[in-house]
Amino acid sequence: MITTIGFDADDTLWHNERVFLSAKSKYKGLLARYHDPEWVEERLDAAEIRNIKHFGYGIKGLTLSMIETAVELTEGRIKGSEINEIIGFAREMLEAPVDLLEGVSEAIEALVGKYRLMVITKGDLFDQETKIARSGLGEYFEHVEIVSDKTRNVYESLFSRQAIAKEEFLMVGNSLKSDVLPVLQIGSNAVHIPYETEWFHEKVDPVLLYGLEIESLESIRELGKWLDNKSKNAAGYEDSTA
Ligand SMILES: [Mg+2]
Repeated sequence: MITTIGFDADDTLWHNERVFLSAKSKYKGLLARYHDPEWVEERLDAAEIRNIKHFGYGIKGLTLSMIETAVELTEGRIKGSEINEIIGFAREMLEAPVDLLEGVSEAIEALVGKYRLMVITKGDLFDQETKIARSGLGEYFEHVEIVSDKTRNVYESLFSRQAIAKEEFLMVGNSLKSDVLPVLQIGSNAVHIPYETEWFHEKVDPVLLYGLEIESLESIRELGKWLDNKSKNAAGYEDSTA
């Protein structure tokens, strides 16, 4: 029986990748007079990956990688005013409206009172806290956990701090790498709801998924029904073994 549901936030509850893609596209425009956009993108992606271990996930980390890449690609010729524009992109990202995915409010409201609901998200602490506040969903979540990464250890430590039995937990999210794989690996439950685009860093080696049964839904709207079926099946199983 599922009693606790953990929701990923970015691209599960609200649009996020769109905001990042739009900032990256402005950035490529800014550097267009120095280099072609594909090359800029490739170098920026490499810097982002390289820097995650220093700066973490989120807007601030991306911004530092943008500045670093701009300095590198222009061999130091980037102007102060252009750096200022990059910082402007970051500010726009932080101020972007929290745009919920379709069906999110209804889906969450329908689960309140039936399950213990949590948000488990990566990213900048301040940014994620304000997004949860601005989303209008904050009151529905009993607990919000903002983590630097979503690994097996991170989930296990959360379960012990929050007194969650792993069999009774369900993680819902758009990332196989962060929301599904580590959760299944520790013997808990997960549902994958793919987003319209996938951040290259969240791609998973298919070998790691081999043999795992991934539950996948097209939309969060299907979650309530999926949970009802799951509890019916669990009840049926208990009857048949009684
Ligand atoms: Mg996500």
